[in-house]
Amino acid sequence: MFQPIRFYAAIEQPLSFRPPRIHCPACGKPAFAAARAPRPCEHLEFVYSGKLGVFEYRSATFLQRCAKAALQEVTLDQLADYVLRIGRSNSLLAIEVTYGAINGRPAWHTDVYGFDFCAEE
Ligand SMILES: [Zn+2]
Repeated sequence: MFQPIRFYAAIEQPLSFRPPRIHCPACGKPAFAAARAPRPCEHLEFVYSGKLGVFEYRSATFLQRCAKAALQEVTLDQLADYVLRIGRSNSLLAIEVTYGAINGRPAWHTDVYGFDFCAEE
């Protein structure tokens, strides 16, 4: 779903399996902990929750680029185009995680973690 990004990995969990804990491939810090820490991993650009349809985390540079974009709400289907439009593609590694749970009936969600190893300081 997120394929236009050049560097891309997809993980699909079996139904009822918890989503894996994604770690930064460069420094090894856990992405979820990093997103909630006061000083997150410098490589983490964004965490997008497909379940909520929002960015759960955006780095300062990513946030600046988002501020210039007209589109404020982004669906999972729009995410790749959005990231390309704001100029975050050539050095980005996107890891897409799809997982499902049964709450009455199966529900599938996809989260996307964006890492940038050429982050500008
Ligand atoms: Zn890192």
